[in-house]
Amino acid sequence: MNDTPGLSTRCVHAGEIDDAHGSPFTPIYHTTTFRFASTADLLDVVEGRKAGSLYTRYGLNPTIASLESKLAALEGAEAAWAFCSGMAAESALFLAHGREGIVCLGEAYGGTLELLADQLPQLGIQTHFVPGQELGQLEALLRQGVKLVFFETPTNPTIDLYDIAAISALAHRHGARVAIDNTFASPVNQQPLGLGADFVVHSCTKFLGGHSDLTAGALMGSRELLAPVCNWRKNLGSTIAPEIAALLARSIRTLPIRVRQQNATALAIAEAMARHPKIRRVLYPGLPDFPGHELAKKQMSGYGGMLTIEVAGSGADATRVADRLKLFALAPSLGGVESLATQPCTTTHHGLSAAERARRGISDAMLRLSIGLEDADDLIADLEQALV
Ligand SMILES: *Cc1c(COP(=O)(O)O)cnc(C)c1O
Repeated sequence: MNDTPGLSTRCVHAGEIDDAHGSPFTPIYHTTTFRFASTADLLDVVEGRKAGSLYTRYGLNPTIASLESKLAALEGAEAAWAFCSGMAAESALFLAHGREGIVCLGEAYGGTLELLADQLPQLGIQTHFVPGQELGQLEALLRQGVKLVFFETPTNPTIDLYDIAAISALAHRHGARVAIDNTFASPVNQQPLGLGADFVVHSCTKFLGGHSDLTAGALMGSRELLAPVCNWRKNLGSTIAPEIAALLARSIRTLPIRVRQQNATALAIAEAMARHPKIRRVLYPGLPDFPGHELAKKQMSGYGGMLTIEVAGSGADATRVADRLKLFALAPSLGGVESLATQPCTTTHHGLSAAERARRGISDAMLRLSIGLEDADDLIADLEQALV
C-alpha cells in the first residue's frame, strides 16, 4: 500500500482493528468499562503513558477509538474526537478554544448561530458576526485579539464560498486559529486542513452518516490543539456511543462513492434547472456562471450534493412547488441517500423576519435541495412536474 493511501482506501480501512476472531471491521464494544490485569496497568492508561480502553464516556473504548482514527484519516488530520452530535462538537470546540473571542464569518447553521449569539455570551464569551463580504471587519476584530475564526463554506442556503487559504493566512498573521464547518462539502469535496485551517468540524448526521439514521459529530485537527477539547467532551458528557460509532464507521466506508454520485446528480439537476423557464436562479458551485465557481475550482475537488433553486415567483409559489414534490421529501437536514427539499423561509430561516432574510440574501422563493442517490432523470422529472 502507498504511504498515504487514497481517500476511498482510507474510508474502508483506516482505523479498523482486527479482533481475536478475524472480523474484517472493528466490532462494537458494547461496554462502558474495561478491566485491567493490575493496578500498574490501570495507572498506565489513567496517567496517559499507554493507550488503552478505560471508560466509554472518556472516549476510551476501542469502537470509538477506531472510528476516530478513520475520521482523522478522512481529513488528513493528526487526531479526531467523535461526539454525540455536530452541535456537541462545536460546543466543545468553542468552550476549549473560544474564550478569547469568536468571530463567525458569513451564514451558519441555525444551532451554531444560536449558540454563538445567545448561550456563549451568557458565559462571558464574546462572539462577533461578520457579514461574508466584510473581510475588513474581520481584520479589525483580529487586531483586537479575537483568537478563533469560524465559518462554513459553502453556506446554507445561499451557497456562498469563502477562501479557506486566504482567511487562514490572515488569521494566522494575527495569532488566531481557524475552524471550518465542513459538513456541506464533506471531506470528499474539500480538505480544509490542507488549505491552512486549524480545525474541521462535522455534523456526521449529514453526509458522513449519509442515511438519515444517526446523529453524531466530529472535530479534527492537530493532537496539540485537540487535547484540551477532550476534557470538555469528557465532562460535558458528549461522547459518541459505541453503537453509533460503529454505524458511522459503516457509513464512512461508502462515503466517497456516495458523494461523487451526489455531486454528479446535483450538477445534472443544476443544469436542468438553470434552463427551466420557471426558475429565476440556480445557486450551485459547479455552474460556470455562479459567482463562487472559480473559488470552488480552486479549493474544492467536487461541487457537492447541495443546491438552491429560486422559483420565478413569490414565497407562496415556492411553497406550492415544494408541496407538489413527490420523490423529494419535504424535510430539513441533508446528506442522506434520499433527496430532500426545504424552503428556508419556512424551516431553517423561519425565525428571522422577512427583512432580515432579505438582508442576508435569502429569498422566500428559494428551495434548498439535498440530492440523494435516486436517478437524476427521476429527480429532474419530479421537479418539472412540481414546477408546472
Ligand atoms: C446539521 C448541521 C449542524 C448541527 O449538527 P447536528 O448533528 O444536528 O448537531 C452543524 N452545522 C451544519 C452545517 C449542519 O448542517
